[in-house]
Amino acid sequence: MPIQYLLLLCSLLTFPAYAVDVALDVGHSRRNSGVISASGIPEWELNRQLAEEVAGRLEQMNVSYRLIGADGAMEVLTERTDLARHDAFFISLHHDSVQPAWLERADRYSGYALFVSRLNPKIGESLACAKEIGDRLLAAGFKPSLYHAAPIEGENRPFADRSRGIHYYDGLAVLRTARQPAVLIEAGVAVNPEDEIRVTGKAGRARVAEAVSRGVADCLRIIRAHASERSVRNRNKTKTE
Ligand SMILES: [Zn+2]
Repeated sequence: MPIQYLLLLCSLLTFPAYAVDVALDVGHSRRNSGVISASGIPEWELNRQLAEEVAGRLEQMNVSYRLIGADGAMEVLTERTDLARHDAFFISLHHDSVQPAWLERADRYSGYALFVSRLNPKIGESLACAKEIGDRLLAAGFKPSLYHAAPIEGENRPFADRSRGIHYYDGLAVLRTARQPAVLIEAGVAVNPEDEIRVTGKAGRARVAEAVSRGVADCLRIIRAHASERSVRNRNKTKTE
């Protein structure tokens, strides 16, 4: 067999066929639009703008993607993960709020947060991906918000990695029902006027999108390496059986 066919065959055996590389989930919908930002913009709109900015950057990096919920009509959370079931990585994009009791002093709360679920079948890779995204955000000068770990009702999300602002949030529907490694990001605290400006608008959004898309590209390399290791292991197993 000519060597190029052999190489092609090897690569087909090694890599699973993904529909697209990244499912970009726009958090919330037009009707249930999440938090209203300090300047009065519904969160869904901020999430959609960020998703489109990330999508543009992925395209430049030749990373394939699908936008989920960008029409604002997706109300059932499991429909999102069903749509993405053959994709390599799932990321849900959000902008944060604070506890109602803290709203008066929302200026005290700022920063991004990353979440993974221990109920996701690929928790190891989910966490590895969250670390890559966290590293890129930190390198771009963003800071983790950390307050979701506060030991109170409604928060209490333990750290998976404190320095990178990664929390476990096991029950989150999209993270739990995703078939692939999955991460949810709160880009910043939208109810804090300063933080809203930091992560939205043309300049802020571009900085977040740059860090997130680079982190996602790093994460895809990890996912592919794991898939390749699994496939080699399976082939060796079949040979010895
Ligand atoms: Zn949200």
